[in-house]
Amino acid sequence: MRENDVIVIGGGLSGLMAAAVSVKNNKKVTLLSLGAGTLTIGGGIVDVMGYVNGGEPAATPSAGLLQVDTEHPYKKIGRPAIEKSIEFFKEICAQEGYPYLGNLNEMQWIPTAAGTLKPTCLVPKTMDTTKLKEANHVVVLGFEALKDFYPHLISKNLKKLPGFTEKTYEVVMIDPGLADGRDVTALDVARLLDTEQGLAECTQKMRAVIKPGSVVVIPPVLGTSPDYRILDNLQKSLKCTFVECASVPPSITGLRLRTMMLRYLKKNGVRIVEQATVARSIVKDGQCTAVITAGIDRERTYYAKSFILANGGFYGGGLVAEPENVIEPIFNLPIAAPSDHELWANMSLFSNEPQPFALIGISVDEKMRPLDEVGKVVLTNVFVAGRNLRGYDFCFEKSGNGVALASGYQAAMSV
Ligand SMILES: Cc1cc2nc3c(=O)[nH]c(=O)nc-3n(C[C@H](O)[C@H](O)[C@H](O)COP(=O)(O)OP(=O)(O)OC[C@H]3O[C@@H](n4cnc5c(N)ncnc54)[C@H](O)[C@@H]3O)c2cc1C
Repeated sequence: MRENDVIVIGGGLSGLMAAAVSVKNNKKVTLLSLGAGTLTIGGGIVDVMGYVNGGEPAATPSAGLLQVDTEHPYKKIGRPAIEKSIEFFKEICAQEGYPYLGNLNEMQWIPTAAGTLKPTCLVPKTMDTTKLKEANHVVVLGFEALKDFYPHLISKNLKKLPGFTEKTYEVVMIDPGLADGRDVTALDVARLLDTEQGLAECTQKMRAVIKPGSVVVIPPVLGTSPDYRILDNLQKSLKCTFVECASVPPSITGLRLRTMMLRYLKKNGVRIVEQATVARSIVKDGQCTAVITAGIDRERTYYAKSFILANGGFYGGGLVAEPENVIEPIFNLPIAAPSDHELWANMSLFSNEPQPFALIGISVDEKMRPLDEVGKVVLTNVFVAGRNLRGYDFCFEKSGNGVALASGYQAAMSV
């Protein structure tokens, strides 16, 4: 039987980060994960803090961190650990040949598929907007039959934004030849560009409609692998700058990030068990000794000295909403939630307030250990990270992957 120092439950960004930090700290780590989490539907970009009180844009991610309230996970984690988590994440990316750009002192405003700008902190090189900001003329490149990407809408909306009104816009389309009577997704185009032939054919089609020297906004389709081979190849062949925009699922940039993190973990000796559903835990005297996975064949028991619970929120499966309350299904940790469901939602669609249901989650101390209603640590060797934490609305404030990295880091450092 393998002797685990740490078992991480969940393979979203917080679990992947917790496993990476644990293994760097020379722990023997097993990661149990049911699925891919929200990385593959959300962006592979790291928002740290985009909007503060009342929906005001934060000047920088760092400035935004100063304005969170006492229940926010960032308050528990503290600035030094947040900074170190960003540093370590960037180190992993650089080591794996897929460096990310950005830092806490600069807000990056990246274009979205709706032609708006979204505040974020760390982006892959494919989303570098330096040249886009400087350009007088912007080309928006569309792919025939590609779902959820409307180049005319993007150019029309970008033109209304400060810093973008003086620019001229041009929409060009190429047909990647994938339609065959069905909708095409960004994943189809990315997979096509992964192949030598697909890349060569698309380059030729792009050459016919894009002039050298252009700055080109495209959907996130520059390959599925965590590297810059396709970006570099296209930029060199066409003498253009390409900027991937943030788009709707499936998230190719998220897929690249997940592949990169998994590769890093495997290389460093983390044992990864996929499609493992942790169903329950064995707890004795305020400590967890093992967790049990349920499968179609049989149950398996995994023992460890410490456990990091990083299995997401309502979407990921880490929190379950019942008619009367909210349940954390593995350890049955206490979750404070209004018993009246009417109070869970802010009914105003475009409100400048967070959603109450998004703030529901597990209360923790500064070591990320779960707390009960009176602030007492419930389990001393269980640490919580990611979307299941109480006190933040990632969607409203744009902080999702920032909290995932920082809390995953802090949980692993507390083991
Ligand atoms: C549509 C969408 C777009 C987003 N866009 C962005 C963005 O652009 N930038 C940004 O910073 N953030 C974004 N976010 C937020 C961000 O994706 C999340 O806040 C963050 O990644 C959460 O990570 P997590 O690891 O805590 O949870 P999750 O990603 O939910 O991962 C939970 C993991 O736990 C596993 N799991 C669940 N239950 C069990 C169990 N019983 N046993 C074993 N494993 C289990 C799941 O399979 C999964 O692997 C977006 C979110 C969504 C939904």
